[in-house]
Amino acid sequence: MAIFDDLKSVGQVLQEAGKIEQYKQILEAQEKLLEMQKRVAELEEENKKLKELLACSEDLEFRISVYYKKSNGDGPFCPNCWDAYRKLIRVIKSYPSADSGKCPQCNNLFNIEGREPVYKPKFARRDLL
Ligand SMILES: [Zn+2]
Repeated sequence: MAIFDDLKSVGQVLQEAGKIEQYKQILEAQEKLLEMQKRVAELEEENKKLKELLACSEDLEFRISVYYKKSNGDGPFCPNCWDAYRKLIRVIKSYPSADSGKCPQCNNLFNIEGREPVYKPKFARRDLL
């Protein structure tokens, strides 16, 4: 980086001229510059992740009870995990019905085929009375 080379050159001149106090200031400026460079890199990485998250969010479409990607139809993804934690977790088809799926992260069950819920109670209410 050119600015580091410039500071190094100035530092050498000051050191050779016996200007120790000014030389120390140049060293401190180099240190601060390195810290700022590190912080910029961290912010760039955070910005990249946020942009990816935003793009993913804009690409999701909620159908009945789960998310699918608009761009390629990929899915289904757990709405619970996405809405609460911004984690894109695939809902896995589960027995006994191919229309239902389970999130391996939060263990919630969902209707994944975009139709009405498929689960029916094993016992009708009248059976329990
Ligand atoms: Zn989940």
